[in-house]
Amino acid sequence: MVRQLERFGIRDRRVLDAIARVPREEFVGPADRDVAYGDHALQIGEGQTISQPYVVARMTELLATEPEHRVLEVGTGSGYQAAVLAELVREVISIERHASLADAARDLLRRLGYTNVRVIHADASLGYPPDAPYDRILITAATPRIDPALATQLSVEGRIVAPIGDLDLQELVVRDARGREEHHGPVRFVPLRGQAGFRG
Ligand code: SAM
Repeated sequence: MVRQLERFGIRDRRVLDAIARVPREEFVGPADRDVAYGDHALQIGEGQTISQPYVVARMTELLATEPEHRVLEVGTGSGYQAAVLAELVREVISIERHASLADAARDLLRRLGYTNVRVIHADASLGYPPDAPYDRILITAATPRIDPALATQLSVEGRIVAPIGDLDLQELVVRDARGREEHHGPVRFVPLRGQAGFRG
């Protein structure tokens, strides 16, 4: 899978090494273990998905983490992205609005030995103020915008990576704490729900 990611243009060695260390087959359903390393999203229950490896790698690369960072992930899902981040940073706070997914991800990450990830069951569309500020914030669900409440939870040198757009198509956006944005092409994610997410 790492060679494929390199062919697709992922260059950050730390990110590639982190992905190589995380057993992706543990984060998919039993019927999908054989296809866990293919470059596609897979269903994980509750109508949600584990993102395709390329998108996980690209978002992690754009996040530009440092080992001492604390990262907020909005949308734990399977816990796979949280595990990749946990290989790279000091602490990951990952929030999931479906209790069943949050519980399963927490148990799995503990079983795999990740002691620097906290999985919390909550609506994080407005972030998670109790542990702010964060050095990095990663939103792993399609969002109509970055809510100002979330942006205030970023440290002064921080950056947010998020798929911003409508329900059908989003753009991968990197925004720093001063509000400067870079755009990195189209993506498709399941929707962010909750207070500042999509209705429905
Ligand atoms: N990062 C995940 C992984 O590695 O498996 C994939 C995330 S999946 C594409 C998006 C997740 O965001 C879903 O599990 C969904 O339930 C969650 N989500 C949607 N709205 C949310 C909200 N307001 N707060 C927290 N989680 C939310």
